[in-house]
Amino acid sequence: MIVRLVESREIAANTRHFVFEAPDVNEFYFIPGQFVSFTETIGGKQITRPYSIASAPDGNRFEICLNLVPNGFFSPLLFSMQPGDTLEMSQPLGYFVLRNPGRDAVFVATGTGVTPFRSMLKAYLGQGDTKEITLIFGVRYEQSLLYRADFEQLAAAHSNFHFQPTLSRPGPDWTGRTGHVQPHLLEAIGGRRDLDVYVCGLKLMVDDVRARLKSLGFDRKQIIFEKYD
Ligand SMILES: Cc1cc2nc3c(=O)[nH]c(=O)nc-3n(C[C@H](O)[C@H](O)[C@H](O)COP(=O)(O)OP(=O)(O)OC[C@H]3O[C@@H](n4cnc5c(N)ncnc54)[C@H](O)[C@@H]3O)c2cc1C
Repeated sequence: MIVRLVESREIAANTRHFVFEAPDVNEFYFIPGQFVSFTETIGGKQITRPYSIASAPDGNRFEICLNLVPNGFFSPLLFSMQPGDTLEMSQPLGYFVLRNPGRDAVFVATGTGVTPFRSMLKAYLGQGDTKEITLIFGVRYEQSLLYRADFEQLAAAHSNFHFQPTLSRPGPDWTGRTGHVQPHLLEAIGGRRDLDVYVCGLKLMVDDVRARLKSLGFDRKQIIFEKYD
């Protein structure tokens, strides 16, 4: 299908939030957590890249978020798009979706890996269920906490949602969590083994978290993950 850029804006250094619309449909259906794949011909080659949907289902609009990969193929192209420009896109795809809606969960993200969790949380919180969800979100700098205001508002509105940002390079005024996501995940889990853990980000972090969870005795079905590279 063809999608059209409505707007894009910088939300952190080298990171942009994009709003697209699918002009040929009234409703753009997807399961929160899924991704779409864009295709473009660059230098005679067809290039396809997947991007997680950042928004909850809402008419024929949807949002994505990405960082500029230096010397990358597709991220510079998306960054150069102007409102009204169009792009070829796949149907929504992927299995990184809530598996056991009744079970408490910990979400672990670094960088733009937080994107599918924004979609899930906006869609599912407030539907009346009381399962506990903790989002552990790791970035280097405070100004890189993507969608911080959204997550803080969701946490203020829903007592079963806990937002735990952590900075690996905190400034002097930061009083919150510091360091990588892994120790904060272990703290959130404590002695429990009845949780699902959802992990999204680059391979290095995702594989490390999976290995730690397995060594704690988590079943692989309880570890749901998406790797961006
Ligand atoms: C299922 C899925 C969902 C994805 N969703 C998102 C998303 O929501 N937001 C997003 O920013 N990216 C996302 N990605 C990554 C995205 O598809 C591209 O790989 C990324 O934009 C780089 O593409 P490129 O053509 O610009 O760079 P390329 O020329 O393909 O260069 C790739 C290099 O960039 C690295 N890389 C890939 N992704 C990132 C990243 N996010 N940050 C830093 N380095 C990266 C790779 O390790 C590799 O070294 C997703 C990937 C997958 C598989």
